[in-house]
Amino acid sequence: MLVTLIFGGNQGDRKALIGEAITEMSSIGKIELCSSLYETAPWGFKSSDSFYNQIVTYETNLLPEEVLDKCQATEQKLGRVRSGTQFCSRTMDIDILFCDSQIINTPRLTVPHPRLAQRNFVLAPLNEIMPAFIHPVIHKNIATLLAECTDTLKAEIIGKNKLLRHFVPPPL
Ligand code: ATP
Ligand code: CA
Ligand code: CA
Repeated sequence: MLVTLIFGGNQGDRKALIGEAITEMSSIGKIELCSSLYETAPWGFKSSDSFYNQIVTYETNLLPEEVLDKCQATEQKLGRVRSGTQFCSRTMDIDILFCDSQIINTPRLTVPHPRLAQRNFVLAPLNEIMPAFIHPVIHKNIATLLAECTDTLKAEIIGKNKLLRHFVPPPL
């Protein structure tokens, strides 16, 4: 399965922490695609500390819930403290955006990530690596979702990834 993860944090050495998290998650499988590094405004809460975000896809043999376990273990390892509130400052947040084109709704996991189409900080890096990928619930591709997104919060490239490789949709 090709799993798409978004990494983000707004505390500590943001760039180094994202690098460490991406490397740590490599234990699930091989990296296939990697977006540039973005600086983004906090979404859903106010803070003067901006986020860094990056999206990476991995080819993995694990099940989606096993990937979530690894995401949460990595957040812990990189110093995340769970405060109880959902939208808040943190050293590391790792969310699953897509698992191939699977639709998952369990108590622990909703895939595709339910808020991704409302977020510039997700759609901008996704559009870099997989603009033609069709969202399996909304049935629109990422480029269209970005064009239609009304989120005006900043999402700027700060570290261009020159090794970008594009997702090629399978033939119909
Ligand atoms: P948001 O989900 O809006 O980005 P958040 O990342 O701040 O908010 P968390 O506190 O990190 O939210 O996660 C809350 C719970 O969301 C987790 O305990 C996890 O079980 C659940 N969850 C559901 N779907 C997903 C997903 N696709 N990726 C990661 N966690 C998920
Ligand atoms: Ca999140
Ligand atoms: Ca999360």
